Amino acid sequence: MEDLYLTYAKQMRNRYGEKVYKLPVNLPATCPNRDGTRGTGGCIFCGAKGTGFENLSNRLTVREQLEINKKYIGEKYKAKLFVAYFQNFTNTYFPVEIMKRYTKEAAETDGIVELCFATRPDCVGDDILEAIRSEAGDKQVCIELGLQSVNPDTLKIINRGHTLEEYIDAVERIHSYGFTVGTHMILNLPWDNREDCIAGAELVSELGIDTVKAHTLYIEKGTELCRMYEAKEFEICPKEEYIIRAADFIEHLRPDISIQRLASRVPNGDTIFCNWGSGWWKLRDMIEEELRKRGSVQGIKWRK
Ligand code: SF4
Repeated sequence: MEDLYLTYAKQMRNRYGEKVYKLPVNLPATCPNRDGTRGTGGCIFCGAKGTGFENLSNRLTVREQLEINKKYIGEKYKAKLFVAYFQNFTNTYFPVEIMKRYTKEAAETDGIVELCFATRPDCVGDDILEAIRSEAGDKQVCIELGLQSVNPDTLKIINRGHTLEEYIDAVERIHSYGFTVGTHMILNLPWDNREDCIAGAELVSELGIDTVKAHTLYIEKGTELCRMYEAKEFEICPKEEYIIRAADFIEHLRPDISIQRLASRVPNGDTIFCNWGSGWWKLRDMIEEELRKRGSVQGIKWRK
């Protein structure tokens, strides 16, 4: 039976010949959209802890974190190949020499086949990309960019602090270094509609990125988004609308772009709204069911 979409696990198995596991690395990172360089307050949905709730302490070195996580995941899953995943906040927002040190430590750790840095489009200057390339050796590098929406008005409302043009420029420059690109998109932003989600899939397809993470917007306590929600300044669309938008997104996504997730995974204790009270896997199953109902697969409406 034909796969409904290309999973990240399958893409990595095709690339490395066996299953590859991500090992989170927690750097003492901040973000130019929080520290005043680009903006203050950050994206309206961004919580004080960022997204790295599975992380070890950032007082440990990169190598120590990788070795601890490798031992745990390696023994649990008999895993041998790993991606060093720099996930929390903006992981390329460091001086060049520090960036080199982090990259070198990860690249020299046994079993690491790939380095993945989550960051922002305005934090991948050529000096940083050159620093990563010079220390990564023969390891593949993926730069994961938050974009969330292709609608310029929505980007302003969610206070991303960068433009769509900066994202496009970042993707093109990252590719010129031989690195792959991942992109995060939120598919139920209240200021976006179905057409915006389709336009997002078309844009990342045109740009030839490698992998996407599709997220549900969740509302974390203490964020500006939480304040707006409680003040009834917007409503979250119904779950059924999310399923339709996600299926549309997949249909317009080039078939060789892998999908890492189809809904957000967050600890419920920190949120006042998350995934309509469903598990992420239930939303994934509903999206797959919607695709089956449509007789559809990834890329069926990708025009090239
Ligand atoms: S770019 Fe990332 S780390 Fe920075 S404020 Fe936005 S969500 Fe938070």
